[in-house]
Amino acid sequence: IGGRRCFSRYAPVYATAGKDFDYLVIGGGSGGLASAKKAAQLGAKVGIVELKKLGGTCVNVGCMPKKVLFYGGLHASMIKDHKDYGFDVTFNGFDWGALKKSREAFIRTKHVMFEKSLKADNITSIFGHGKFTEDGAVEVNGKKYTAEHTLISTGAKPIILDVPGKELGITNEGFFRLETLPKKAVVVGAGYIAVELAGILRTFGTDVSMLIQPNDGVLVTFDSMIEDAVTQNLKDSGINIKNDTVVQSIAKGSDGKLNIKTSTGVIDGADCLIWAVGRAPNADIALDKVGIETTDFGNIIVDEYQNTSAHKIYAIGDVCGKALLTPVAIQTGRKLARRLFNDETKLKMEFKWIPTVIFSHPPVGSIGMSQKEAEQKYGADKIKVYKTTFVPVYYGLTQRKIQEHMKLVCLLPEQRIIGLHIVGLDADEMLQGYAAALKIGATKKDFEETIAIHPTSSEEVVTIK
Ligand code: FAD
Ligand code: NDP
Repeated sequence: IGGRRCFSRYAPVYATAGKDFDYLVIGGGSGGLASAKKAAQLGAKVGIVELKKLGGTCVNVGCMPKKVLFYGGLHASMIKDHKDYGFDVTFNGFDWGALKKSREAFIRTKHVMFEKSLKADNITSIFGHGKFTEDGAVEVNGKKYTAEHTLISTGAKPIILDVPGKELGITNEGFFRLETLPKKAVVVGAGYIAVELAGILRTFGTDVSMLIQPNDGVLVTFDSMIEDAVTQNLKDSGINIKNDTVVQSIAKGSDGKLNIKTSTGVIDGADCLIWAVGRAPNADIALDKVGIETTDFGNIIVDEYQNTSAHKIYAIGDVCGKALLTPVAIQTGRKLARRLFNDETKLKMEFKWIPTVIFSHPPVGSIGMSQKEAEQKYGADKIKVYKTTFVPVYYGLTQRKIQEHMKLVCLLPEQRIIGLHIVGLDADEMLQGYAAALKIGATKKDFEETIAIHPTSSEEVVTIK
């Protein structure tokens, strides 16, 4: 097909009809890259516009550098257990700069991989800020590109609260640029990013305060077991949780340290303040020129097939504001490409059974409904809950004892498992298999008839009483 690569025997031939591309993707992050590659592999001529670095939030300032630091934090915690396991190890300190350097080298390997794979799929990369023109084309660096189908996958950016001195705070992006480990840090928020970054810093020894707004708590959108257990773990690790606390102003002293005025007092001498209060869509792409509708918050409105209100323009991932997770953006992007370029006309993303992990210390794994959501939806008499709390074998001989918490939410009468929540060591690696089980409708009886793997913590999920 006109010199293009075609990986599917059934891929239709797409005429570009005088257009530059069959598929032009704005945003080369998790969703955009996945969708572009799938479309190209199905025979489409594809271009991808990227403002910063290929890989987007996840690879550059999100999941990947965070996961490296999560493992760093795991090392820091486990050093405390070495003696209990018979090791005579002398600890001579921790070099944040060295870890930053090796983390960045690891991320660079991802960029090389993306460049190679875009080349292999004949995808044209265009670097610059993409925005729509009135005729539906996309303008980058003053040049116009036309396409039969256009995808918006521009992701989201951190929200910064509007207080005097707000620019003295940093976001996840600034966090990954820190050259030295802060001695004292203040984290604003109590969601995914706040819990993860506060936890990482604390494991390395930083004095951390988390500021939580009035009538709020830690990870309140999750099951109450998660909220309670994570709050306790954060407190036990030495994080100073300041409830009902609002930042009023930030100032920098001549020593370079921050002075933070809050509704419950002043925090002096902080090395950094991290804004972690949610993310807003990157929708500064002249949507009005093509009549694309957004919510009041700015998220692009799409139907169940990711169609926007403009003909042949689609949106996926964080910019749509629903389930802001990398695998969600990837799967939505791939399905859309198959719908457009493989004649799978009814294919769409199912926003159900989305497993998620919070890389706290210890981590959290959660899928499905919380107990409260299930009871509200079906009535408390239709829900049976199984809970357990225990000390994993790993901590059997250590001074440190961190409990594992598990909860199954089951719908009567079959006891179909509609929620599964775990807080504790290895919860991050436990959840994926159970997510597959829940997706195909597993019941409590199916779990009971599953042979346990002994001795593990995950066996408790199938043996829970
Ligand atoms: P992005 O990956 O953000 O990609 C959007 C791309 O569009 C960016 O590269 C951006 O530069 C580009 N862009 C924006 N505007 C324009 C424009 N006008 N022209 C051209 N290009 C443009 N998710 C998980 O599943 N697991 C995790 O562990 C996890 N950890 C996270 C940790 C942090 C600190 C953060 C912030 C997020 C984390 N996430 C995690 C969420 C995950 O990163 C996002 O859900 C995912 O990256 C969304 O993919 P996307 O393709 O929608 O957007
Ligand atoms: P979240 O929505 O998870 O958390 C935002 C936090 O800020 C909540 O505690 C929220 O409270 C609080 N908040 C909101 N407004 C204010 C305010 N005005 N003052 C003080 N606190 C406020 O967003 P994040 O920024 O942490 O992360 C964004 C998204 O990125 C996540 O939702 C997640 O989808 C994704 N992500 C995923 C990760 C993973 O998979 N491991 C890791 C990191 C991010 P309330 O909840 O009550 O509104």
